Amino acid sequence: MKASISDAIIMRTKEFGETDLLVTFFTPEQGQLKAVAKGGRKSRKRFANSLDVFSLVVLEYESRKEGTLPLLQSGKLVHAFPGIRSDYTRLSLASYMVELTEALFPLGVADKRAFDLLKNSLYALDRGHGEQEIIVPFEAGALALGGYRINLERCCLCGRRYMGQGTAVFVRERGGIACMRCRRPSVDMPSLSPEALKVLDSLQSVSHELGEDLGPSKGVLSEIRPVLRLHRDYRIERPLKTAKHVD
Ligand SMILES: [Zn+2]
Repeated sequence: MKASISDAIIMRTKEFGETDLLVTFFTPEQGQLKAVAKGGRKSRKRFANSLDVFSLVVLEYESRKEGTLPLLQSGKLVHAFPGIRSDYTRLSLASYMVELTEALFPLGVADKRAFDLLKNSLYALDRGHGEQEIIVPFEAGALALGGYRINLERCCLCGRRYMGQGTAVFVRERGGIACMRCRRPSVDMPSLSPEALKVLDSLQSVSHELGEDLGPSKGVLSEIRPVLRLHRDYRIERPLKTAKHVD
């Protein structure tokens, strides 16, 4: 038996047997994990509100013999995000962020930066930042960390290097951009202005603090948003149930 203790974000819970709960949570070092909270449905005392979905908690869990789920020993609440729980729109956005994280970082795929991105996005959402200012940076960062960074360096068709000038066109099938000589914008191939390309590049490197003023106008975020939507739907095979909340 090996005991672990970790920061975690509760992703979902499910009734398990007569009295137990099956808890799925996201950790910085081990990614997504599932564990059983014995008596979790009846006695909430030991877990003191720390098993509510989206909560940021510190969990103690113990691996048992191979082929069995770890057992949760205790939970301590760090932040319950009351500002998210009290607002239906924010709750929907939080569900979407959790589902996108689950899709990009399945069991066994750990990424500390993805954990921080989700955690910081939940904090920003709790503080009441605007939808677009949270969702666009979150999607750009999560997709990039998950291995789907949009290549903004050169035209994916003729190879010409993008020098930071002129409008480019997003090409979904290539996960990159094309120059205006190679492609013309359309609904399926939205255009990106030089400013939008610069902002998207910075969001993909996840080097900013969330909620920090990046300077992008609402107009720039609205330019990036349809690109990320097309990119996400093309790269993630399974449609996300919660995508309707943001699309
Ligand atoms: Zn080209």
